[in-house]
Amino acid sequence: NLSERLERSFKILKGEGKITELNVAETLKDVRRALLEADVNYNVAKKFTEEVKEKALGQNVLTAVRPGELMVKIVHDELAQLMGSKATEINLKGTPAIILMSGLQGSGKTTFSGKLAHLLKTKQSKKPLLVACDVYRPAAIEQLRVLAEQIAVPVYFDLESKDPVSIARRGVAEAMAQGCDVVIIDTAGRLAIDEEMMREIQAVKEAIRPSETLFVVDSMTGQDAVNTAKEFNDRLDFDGVVLTKLDGDTRGGAALSIRTVVDKPIKFVGMGEKMDALDVFHPERMADRILGMGDIVSLVERAQQLYDEREARRLEERIAKDQFDFNDFLTQIHQIKKMGNIKELAAMIPGVGKALKDIDINDDAFKSIEAIIYSMTPEERAKPHILDGHRRKRIALGSGTTVQDVNKLLTQFTQTRKMMKTLQGFKGGKMPKMPSM
Ligand code: GDP
Ligand code: MG
Repeated sequence: NLSERLERSFKILKGEGKITELNVAETLKDVRRALLEADVNYNVAKKFTEEVKEKALGQNVLTAVRPGELMVKIVHDELAQLMGSKATEINLKGTPAIILMSGLQGSGKTTFSGKLAHLLKTKQSKKPLLVACDVYRPAAIEQLRVLAEQIAVPVYFDLESKDPVSIARRGVAEAMAQGCDVVIIDTAGRLAIDEEMMREIQAVKEAIRPSETLFVVDSMTGQDAVNTAKEFNDRLDFDGVVLTKLDGDTRGGAALSIRTVVDKPIKFVGMGEKMDALDVFHPERMADRILGMGDIVSLVERAQQLYDEREARRLEERIAKDQFDFNDFLTQIHQIKKMGNIKELAAMIPGVGKALKDIDINDDAFKSIEAIIYSMTPEERAKPHILDGHRRKRIALGSGTTVQDVNKLLTQFTQTRKMMKTLQGFKGGKMPKMPSM
Protein backbone atom coordinates (compact mmCIF):
# COMPACT_ATOMS: atom_id res chain seq x y z
CA ASN A 1 0.00 0.00 0.00
CA LEU A 2 0.85 3.65 -0.17
CA SER A 3 2.42 3.97 3.23
CA GLU A 4 4.70 1.01 2.69
CA ARG A 5 5.87 2.37 -0.61
CA LEU A 6 6.43 5.85 0.74
CA GLU A 7 8.26 4.39 3.67
CA ARG A 8 10.64 2.82 1.24
CA SER A 9 11.24 6.13 -0.48
CA PHE A 10 11.65 7.81 2.85
CA LYS A 11 14.67 5.68 3.42
CA ILE A 12 16.17 7.37 0.42
CA LEU A 13 14.96 10.80 1.39
CA LYS A 14 16.05 10.64 4.97
CA GLY A 15 19.21 12.33 5.94
CA GLU A 16 19.33 14.58 2.90
CA GLY A 17 19.41 18.29 3.55
CA LYS A 18 17.88 19.32 0.29
CA ILE A 19 15.25 18.05 -2.07
CA THR A 20 17.09 16.87 -5.16
CA GLU A 21 16.13 15.21 -8.43
CA LEU A 22 17.53 11.97 -7.10
CA ASN A 23 15.88 11.85 -3.71
CA VAL A 24 12.40 12.86 -4.87
CA ALA A 25 12.22 10.58 -7.87
CA GLU A 26 10.91 7.60 -5.98
CA THR A 27 8.60 9.60 -3.74
CA LEU A 28 7.06 11.21 -6.79
CA LYS A 29 6.56 7.85 -8.41
CA ASP A 30 4.75 6.77 -5.26
CA VAL A 31 2.63 9.90 -5.15
CA ARG A 32 1.63 9.25 -8.73
CA ARG A 33 0.71 5.69 -7.92
CA ALA A 34 -1.33 6.90 -4.95
CA LEU A 35 -3.20 9.29 -7.21
CA LEU A 36 -3.93 6.55 -9.70
CA GLU A 37 -5.15 4.37 -6.87
CA ALA A 38 -7.49 7.20 -5.91
CA ASP A 39 -8.80 7.04 -9.48
CA VAL A 40 -7.18 10.23 -10.64
CA ASN A 41 -6.90 10.23 -14.41
CA TYR A 42 -3.50 9.00 -15.64
CA ASN A 43 -2.51 12.13 -17.54
CA VAL A 44 -3.67 14.34 -14.71
CA ALA A 45 -1.61 12.39 -12.21
CA LYS A 46 1.43 12.60 -14.45
CA LYS A 47 1.09 16.33 -15.02
CA PHE A 48 0.47 16.96 -11.35
CA THR A 49 3.56 15.11 -10.16
CA GLU A 50 5.69 16.92 -12.71
CA GLU A 51 4.45 20.26 -11.44
CA VAL A 52 5.06 19.28 -7.86
CA LYS A 53 8.55 18.21 -8.75
CA GLU A 54 9.30 21.64 -10.21
CA LYS A 55 8.06 23.26 -7.01
CA ALA A 56 9.98 20.92 -4.75
CA LEU A 57 13.34 20.79 -6.43
CA GLY A 58 16.04 22.70 -4.66
CA GLN A 59 13.89 23.64 -1.70
CA ASN A 60 15.96 23.65 1.42
CA VAL A 61 14.85 21.33 4.13
CA LEU A 62 14.83 22.92 7.55
CA THR A 63 16.65 20.85 10.09
CA ALA A 64 13.43 20.22 11.98
CA VAL A 65 11.66 18.88 8.91
CA ARG A 66 12.62 15.80 7.00
CA PRO A 67 12.66 15.95 3.20
CA GLY A 68 9.93 13.31 3.10
CA GLU A 69 7.65 15.33 5.33
CA LEU A 70 8.30 18.41 3.28
CA MET A 71 7.44 16.53 0.10
CA VAL A 72 4.19 15.33 1.60
CA LYS A 73 3.34 18.87 2.58
CA ILE A 74 4.15 20.23 -0.86
CA VAL A 75 2.04 17.55 -2.53
CA HIS A 76 -0.84 18.10 -0.14
CA ASP A 77 -0.83 21.90 -0.45
CA GLU A 78 -0.56 21.73 -4.21
CA LEU A 79 -3.52 19.35 -4.40
CA ALA A 80 -5.65 21.54 -2.17
CA GLN A 81 -4.75 24.66 -4.07
CA LEU A 82 -5.42 23.11 -7.42
CA MET A 83 -8.85 21.91 -6.42
CA GLY A 84 -9.94 24.96 -4.53
CA SER A 85 -8.61 28.12 -6.06
CA LYS A 86 -11.87 29.38 -7.53
CA ALA A 87 -15.01 30.97 -6.15
CA THR A 88 -17.60 28.40 -5.25
CA GLU A 89 -20.70 30.51 -4.61
CA ILE A 90 -23.56 29.67 -6.89
CA ASN A 91 -24.96 32.49 -8.93
CA LEU A 92 -28.49 33.37 -7.86
CA LYS A 93 -28.95 36.43 -10.05
CA GLY A 94 -32.21 36.85 -11.90
CA THR A 95 -35.86 36.78 -10.97
CA PRO A 96 -36.19 33.96 -10.74
CA ALA A 97 -32.65 32.65 -10.58
CA ILE A 98 -32.44 29.53 -12.72
CA ILE A 99 -30.25 26.56 -11.90
CA LEU A 100 -29.87 23.81 -14.47
CA MET A 101 -28.67 20.30 -13.64
CA SER A 102 -26.65 18.20 -16.05
CA GLY A 103 -24.93 14.84 -15.84
CA LEU A 104 -25.24 11.17 -16.61
CA GLN A 105 -28.05 8.97 -15.41
CA GLY A 106 -27.55 7.89 -11.82
CA SER A 107 -25.03 10.61 -11.09
CA GLY A 108 -27.37 12.09 -8.51
CA LYS A 109 -29.06 15.02 -10.29
CA THR A 110 -32.52 14.43 -8.90
CA THR A 111 -31.26 13.86 -5.37
CA PHE A 112 -29.05 16.93 -5.54
CA SER A 113 -31.91 19.04 -6.92
CA GLY A 114 -33.86 18.21 -3.79
CA LYS A 115 -30.89 18.85 -1.52
CA LEU A 116 -30.17 22.21 -3.10
CA ALA A 117 -33.81 23.28 -2.85
CA HIS A 118 -33.78 22.26 0.80
CA LEU A 119 -30.55 24.17 1.44
CA LEU A 120 -31.74 27.35 -0.27
CA LYS A 121 -35.03 27.21 1.55
CA THR A 122 -33.72 26.52 5.03
CA LYS A 123 -30.39 28.37 4.98
CA GLN A 124 -31.05 31.27 2.64
CA SER A 125 -34.80 31.75 3.08
CA LYS A 126 -35.33 31.29 -0.64
CA LYS A 127 -38.51 30.11 -2.28
CA PRO A 128 -37.42 27.41 -4.72
CA LEU A 129 -39.48 25.58 -7.33
CA LEU A 130 -38.36 22.20 -8.62
CA VAL A 131 -39.01 21.38 -12.29
CA ALA A 132 -39.05 17.80 -13.57
CA CYS A 133 -37.62 17.64 -17.10
CA ASP A 134 -36.75 13.96 -17.22
CA VAL A 135 -39.48 13.01 -19.66
CA TYR A 136 -38.22 9.52 -20.41
CA ARG A 137 -38.78 7.88 -17.10
CA PRO A 138 -42.05 8.49 -15.27
CA ALA A 139 -40.34 7.08 -12.19
CA ALA A 140 -37.90 9.99 -12.32
CA ILE A 141 -40.73 12.51 -12.11
CA GLU A 142 -42.28 10.57 -9.25
CA GLN A 143 -38.90 10.54 -7.49
CA LEU A 144 -38.67 14.33 -7.65
CA ARG A 145 -42.26 14.69 -6.45
CA VAL A 146 -41.55 12.54 -3.42
CA LEU A 147 -38.43 14.50 -2.56
CA ALA A 148 -40.25 17.82 -3.04
CA GLU A 149 -42.96 16.69 -0.67
CA GLN A 150 -40.39 15.67 1.93
CA ILE A 151 -38.84 19.11 1.98
CA ALA A 152 -42.11 20.94 1.39
CA VAL A 153 -41.03 22.62 -1.82
CA PRO A 154 -43.38 23.02 -4.81
CA VAL A 155 -42.65 20.96 -7.92
CA TYR A 156 -43.67 21.52 -11.54
CA PHE A 157 -44.10 18.58 -13.93
CA ASP A 158 -46.12 17.49 -16.93
CA LEU A 159 -46.77 13.81 -17.35
CA GLU A 160 -48.21 14.32 -20.85
CA SER A 161 -45.37 16.28 -22.44
CA LYS A 162 -42.29 14.79 -24.03
CA ASP A 163 -40.65 18.15 -24.63
CA PRO A 164 -38.13 19.14 -21.95
CA VAL A 165 -37.60 22.60 -23.45
CA SER A 166 -41.28 23.37 -23.20
CA ILE A 167 -41.55 22.01 -19.67
CA ALA A 168 -38.52 24.05 -18.58
CA ARG A 169 -40.03 27.24 -20.05
CA ARG A 170 -43.36 26.62 -18.42
CA GLY A 171 -41.58 25.79 -15.18
CA VAL A 172 -39.95 29.20 -15.12
CA ALA A 173 -43.28 30.87 -15.86
CA GLU A 174 -44.86 28.86 -13.06
CA ALA A 175 -42.18 30.07 -10.65
CA MET A 176 -42.97 33.67 -11.47
CA ALA A 177 -46.68 33.03 -11.08
CA GLN A 178 -46.10 31.43 -7.67
CA GLY A 179 -43.64 34.08 -6.54
CA CYS A 180 -40.73 31.64 -6.35
CA ASP A 181 -37.28 33.22 -6.61
CA VAL A 182 -35.23 30.15 -7.59
CA VAL A 183 -36.03 27.51 -10.21
CA ILE A 184 -34.13 24.25 -10.10
CA ILE A 185 -34.37 22.26 -13.31
CA ASP A 186 -33.78 18.52 -13.06
CA THR A 187 -33.01 16.90 -16.38
CA ALA A 188 -32.66 13.45 -17.93
CA GLY A 189 -29.32 11.75 -18.19
CA ARG A 190 -28.13 8.71 -20.12
CA LEU A 191 -25.87 5.94 -19.00
CA ALA A 192 -23.13 7.22 -21.28
CA ILE A 193 -22.41 10.30 -23.36
CA ASP A 194 -25.11 10.44 -25.97
CA GLU A 195 -25.69 12.90 -28.79
CA GLU A 196 -29.44 13.18 -28.30
CA MET A 197 -29.07 13.88 -24.58
CA MET A 198 -26.47 16.54 -25.27
CA ARG A 199 -28.58 18.27 -27.89
CA GLU A 200 -31.56 18.19 -25.58
CA ILE A 201 -29.83 19.75 -22.58
CA GLN A 202 -28.17 22.32 -24.81
CA ALA A 203 -31.58 23.28 -26.12
CA VAL A 204 -32.93 23.61 -22.59
CA LYS A 205 -29.99 25.79 -21.64
CA GLU A 206 -30.44 28.08 -24.61
CA ALA A 207 -34.16 28.38 -24.00
CA ILE A 208 -34.06 29.32 -20.35
CA ARG A 209 -30.59 30.91 -19.98
CA PRO A 210 -29.81 29.68 -16.46
CA SER A 211 -27.72 31.78 -14.08
CA GLU A 212 -25.98 28.60 -13.01
CA THR A 213 -25.44 25.32 -14.82
CA LEU A 214 -24.14 22.53 -12.63
CA PHE A 215 -22.50 19.31 -13.72
CA VAL A 216 -23.34 16.49 -11.34
CA VAL A 217 -20.91 13.59 -11.22
CA ASP A 218 -20.66 10.43 -9.18
CA SER A 219 -17.33 10.50 -7.33
CA MET A 220 -17.01 6.75 -7.80
CA THR A 221 -16.91 7.19 -11.58
CA GLY A 222 -13.14 7.04 -11.57
CA GLN A 223 -11.17 7.34 -14.75
CA ASP A 224 -14.24 8.00 -16.92
CA ALA A 225 -15.10 11.16 -15.03
CA VAL A 226 -12.63 13.16 -17.08
CA ASN A 227 -14.18 12.31 -20.44
CA THR A 228 -17.68 12.87 -19.18
CA ALA A 229 -16.83 16.20 -17.60
CA LYS A 230 -14.96 17.34 -20.70
CA GLU A 231 -17.81 16.41 -23.00
CA PHE A 232 -20.41 18.16 -20.89
CA ASN A 233 -18.22 21.20 -20.49
CA ASP A 234 -17.54 21.47 -24.23
CA ARG A 235 -21.26 21.44 -24.88
CA LEU A 236 -22.60 23.40 -21.94
CA ASP A 237 -19.72 25.42 -20.56
CA PHE A 238 -21.07 24.66 -17.10
CA ASP A 239 -20.31 26.85 -14.06
CA GLY A 240 -19.56 24.32 -11.39
CA VAL A 241 -19.31 20.70 -10.39
CA VAL A 242 -21.27 18.70 -7.84
CA LEU A 243 -19.41 15.64 -6.62
CA THR A 244 -21.88 13.10 -5.27
CA LYS A 245 -21.63 9.91 -3.20
CA LEU A 246 -18.57 11.00 -1.31
CA ASP A 247 -20.01 9.14 1.67
CA GLY A 248 -18.83 5.97 -0.09
CA ASP A 249 -15.35 4.62 0.23
CA THR A 250 -14.01 6.26 -2.90
CA ARG A 251 -10.85 8.30 -2.57
CA GLY A 252 -12.46 10.88 -4.83
CA GLY A 253 -9.69 11.26 -7.37
CA ALA A 254 -12.34 12.41 -9.84
CA ALA A 255 -12.29 15.76 -8.08
CA LEU A 256 -8.71 16.39 -9.10
CA SER A 257 -9.15 15.02 -12.62
CA ILE A 258 -12.19 17.13 -13.36
CA ARG A 259 -10.72 20.21 -11.83
CA THR A 260 -7.56 19.87 -13.87
CA VAL A 261 -9.23 19.07 -17.17
CA VAL A 262 -12.18 21.47 -17.21
CA ASP A 263 -10.94 24.07 -14.74
CA LYS A 264 -14.33 24.61 -13.16
CA PRO A 265 -14.82 24.81 -9.40
CA ILE A 266 -16.32 22.02 -7.36
CA LYS A 267 -19.17 23.71 -5.55
CA PHE A 268 -20.86 20.99 -3.55
CA VAL A 269 -20.31 17.46 -2.43
CA GLY A 270 -23.05 14.92 -1.79
CA MET A 271 -22.57 12.95 1.39
CA GLY A 272 -25.59 10.67 1.44
CA GLU A 273 -29.09 10.08 0.19
CA LYS A 274 -30.86 12.23 2.76
CA MET A 275 -31.91 15.75 1.90
CA ASP A 276 -29.55 17.38 4.39
CA ALA A 277 -26.53 15.33 3.27
CA LEU A 278 -25.06 18.18 1.27
CA ASP A 279 -21.77 19.85 1.98
CA VAL A 280 -19.78 22.70 0.53
CA PHE A 281 -16.51 21.61 -0.97
CA HIS A 282 -13.42 21.63 1.27
CA PRO A 283 -10.26 21.39 -0.85
CA GLU A 284 -8.06 20.58 2.14
CA ARG A 285 -10.22 17.67 3.19
CA MET A 286 -10.35 16.43 -0.35
CA ALA A 287 -6.57 16.56 -0.63
CA ASP A 288 -6.31 14.55 2.59
CA ARG A 289 -8.73 12.08 1.20
CA ILE A 290 -7.08 11.66 -2.17
CA LEU A 291 -3.66 11.17 -0.62
CA GLY A 292 -5.04 9.04 2.17
CA MET A 293 -3.80 11.34 4.88
CA GLY A 294 -4.15 8.63 7.49
CA ASP A 295 -1.44 6.79 5.58
CA ILE A 296 0.71 9.86 5.35
CA VAL A 297 0.52 10.52 9.05
CA SER A 298 1.40 6.96 9.87
CA LEU A 299 4.35 6.98 7.56
CA VAL A 300 5.71 10.17 9.00
CA GLU A 301 5.53 8.31 12.28
CA ARG A 302 7.27 5.41 10.70
CA ALA A 303 10.03 7.67 9.46
CA GLN A 304 10.42 8.69 13.07
CA GLN A 305 10.62 5.07 14.03
CA LEU A 306 13.38 4.50 11.50
CA TYR A 307 15.26 7.28 13.17
CA ASP A 308 14.83 5.59 16.52
CA GLU A 309 16.09 2.34 15.09
CA ARG A 310 19.20 4.07 13.89
CA GLU A 311 19.65 5.49 17.39
CA ALA A 312 19.28 1.99 18.78
CA ARG A 313 21.99 0.69 16.51
CA ARG A 314 24.30 3.48 17.61
CA LEU A 315 23.64 2.41 21.15
CA GLU A 316 24.37 -1.21 20.40
CA GLU A 317 27.75 -0.20 19.12
CA ARG A 318 28.46 1.76 22.25
CA ILE A 319 27.49 -1.19 24.37
CA ALA A 320 29.71 -3.49 22.34
CA LYS A 321 32.64 -1.16 22.84
CA ASP A 322 31.81 -0.83 26.53
CA GLN A 323 31.12 2.87 26.06
CA PHE A 324 27.55 2.92 27.36
CA ASP A 325 27.45 5.71 29.90
CA PHE A 326 25.05 7.86 31.88
CA ASN A 327 24.43 10.12 28.90
CA ASP A 328 23.09 7.13 27.01
CA PHE A 329 21.18 6.10 30.08
CA LEU A 330 19.56 9.52 30.24
CA THR A 331 18.75 9.54 26.52
CA GLN A 332 17.03 6.21 26.92
CA ILE A 333 15.01 7.41 29.89
CA HIS A 334 13.78 10.27 27.75
CA GLN A 335 12.85 7.83 25.03
CA ILE A 336 10.87 5.79 27.50
CA LYS A 337 9.07 8.83 28.80
CA LYS A 338 8.07 9.79 25.28
CA MET A 339 6.15 6.58 24.91
CA GLY A 340 2.69 5.85 26.17
CA ASN A 341 2.62 2.50 27.87
CA ILE A 342 5.97 2.59 29.53
CA LYS A 343 5.66 -0.46 31.77
CA GLU A 344 5.26 -2.71 28.81
CA LEU A 345 7.93 -1.12 26.72
CA ALA A 346 10.59 -0.21 29.24
CA ALA A 347 11.82 -3.77 29.55
CA MET A 348 12.71 -3.75 25.89
CA ILE A 349 14.85 -0.63 25.94
CA PRO A 350 18.54 -1.48 25.83
CA GLY A 351 20.34 -0.17 28.82
CA VAL A 352 17.49 0.90 31.00
CA GLY A 353 14.81 -1.77 31.04
CA LYS A 354 16.82 -4.21 33.13
CA ALA A 355 17.83 -1.56 35.63
CA LEU A 356 14.25 -0.49 36.08
CA LYS A 357 12.62 -3.87 36.20
CA ASP A 358 12.28 -3.90 39.96
CA ILE A 359 11.07 -0.35 40.18
CA ASP A 360 7.46 0.56 39.95
CA ILE A 361 7.73 2.62 36.83
CA ASN A 362 6.15 5.97 37.17
CA ASP A 363 7.32 9.50 36.71
CA ASP A 364 8.56 9.72 40.29
CA ALA A 365 10.90 6.80 39.75
CA PHE A 366 12.32 8.59 36.76
CA LYS A 367 12.53 11.85 38.59
CA SER A 368 15.02 10.70 41.22
CA ILE A 369 17.08 8.82 38.63
CA GLU A 370 17.13 11.82 36.38
CA ALA A 371 17.95 14.09 39.30
CA ILE A 372 20.92 11.94 40.20
CA ILE A 373 22.25 11.88 36.64
CA TYR A 374 21.70 15.61 36.22
CA SER A 375 23.72 16.20 39.36
CA MET A 376 26.71 14.51 37.80
CA THR A 377 29.29 16.48 35.87
CA PRO A 378 29.56 15.68 32.14
CA GLU A 379 32.81 13.90 32.88
CA GLU A 380 31.17 11.76 35.54
CA ARG A 381 28.35 10.86 33.19
CA ALA A 382 30.75 9.78 30.49
CA LYS A 383 33.12 7.96 32.87
CA PRO A 384 31.04 6.46 35.68
CA HIS A 385 34.09 4.62 37.11
CA ILE A 386 35.46 7.88 38.55
CA LEU A 387 32.46 8.15 40.90
CA ASP A 388 34.16 7.74 44.26
CA GLY A 389 32.63 8.21 47.70
CA HIS A 390 33.30 11.91 47.71
CA ARG A 391 31.59 12.50 44.39
CA ARG A 392 28.63 10.30 45.34
CA LYS A 393 28.02 12.33 48.46
CA ARG A 394 28.06 15.54 46.45
CA ILE A 395 25.64 14.06 43.88
CA ALA A 396 23.24 12.88 46.58
CA LEU A 397 23.18 16.33 48.10
CA GLY A 398 22.70 17.98 44.72
CA SER A 399 19.87 15.71 43.67
CA GLY A 400 18.04 15.69 46.97
CA THR A 401 18.54 11.95 47.34
CA THR A 402 20.63 9.83 49.66
CA VAL A 403 24.03 8.25 49.07
CA GLN A 404 22.21 4.90 49.21
CA ASP A 405 20.00 6.00 46.30
CA VAL A 406 23.05 6.97 44.30
CA ASN A 407 24.80 3.72 45.16
CA LYS A 408 21.73 1.76 44.16
CA LEU A 409 21.56 3.46 40.78
CA LEU A 410 25.27 2.91 40.22
CA THR A 411 24.96 -0.76 41.09
CA GLN A 412 22.03 -1.14 38.74
CA PHE A 413 23.87 0.71 36.05
CA THR A 414 26.99 -1.44 36.38
CA GLN A 415 24.94 -4.64 36.42
CA THR A 416 22.99 -3.53 33.41
CA ARG A 417 26.11 -2.74 31.51
CA LYS A 418 27.61 -6.09 32.32
CA MET A 419 24.42 -7.87 31.44
CA MET A 420 24.09 -6.08 28.16
CA LYS A 421 27.62 -6.90 27.25
CA THR A 422 27.12 -10.58 28.04
CA LEU A 423 23.82 -10.63 26.22
CA GLN A 424 25.44 -9.12 23.20
CA GLY A 425 28.20 -11.70 23.30
CA PHE A 426 25.61 -14.50 23.34
CA LYS A 427 23.80 -13.08 20.35
CA GLY A 428 26.87 -12.59 18.28
CA GLY A 429 26.95 -8.84 18.57
CA LYS A 430 23.24 -8.36 18.11
CA MET A 431 20.99 -6.66 20.64
CA PRO A 432 17.22 -6.89 20.56
CA LYS A 433 15.65 -4.34 18.25
CA MET A 434 14.27 -1.13 19.68
CA PRO A 435 10.52 -1.14 19.98
CA SER A 436 8.38 1.06 17.75
CA MET A 437 7.95 4.56 19.01
P1 GDP B 1 -29.98 10.96 -11.39
O1 GDP B 1 -30.26 9.83 -12.30
O2 GDP B 1 -28.79 11.74 -11.85
O3 GDP B 1 -31.15 11.83 -11.14
O4 GDP B 1 -29.53 10.33 -9.98
P2 GDP B 1 -30.39 10.16 -8.67
O5 GDP B 1 -30.54 11.44 -7.95
O6 GDP B 1 -31.65 9.41 -8.97
O7 GDP B 1 -29.40 9.27 -7.80
C1 GDP B 1 -29.05 7.94 -8.17
C2 GDP B 1 -28.88 7.10 -6.92
O8 GDP B 1 -27.80 7.59 -6.17
C3 GDP B 1 -30.08 7.18 -6.01
O9 GDP B 1 -30.27 5.91 -5.44
C4 GDP B 1 -29.67 8.18 -4.95
O10 GDP B 1 -30.31 7.92 -3.72
C5 GDP B 1 -28.20 7.94 -4.84
N1 GDP B 1 -27.45 9.12 -4.43
C6 GDP B 1 -27.46 10.36 -4.96
N2 GDP B 1 -26.59 11.18 -4.31
C7 GDP B 1 -26.02 10.43 -3.34
C8 GDP B 1 -25.02 10.68 -2.33
O11 GDP B 1 -24.45 11.79 -2.16
N3 GDP B 1 -24.68 9.63 -1.52
C9 GDP B 1 -25.26 8.42 -1.67
N4 GDP B 1 -24.84 7.45 -0.85
N5 GDP B 1 -26.17 8.14 -2.60
C10 GDP B 1 -26.57 9.13 -3.42
MG1 MG C 1 -32.95 11.84 -12.06
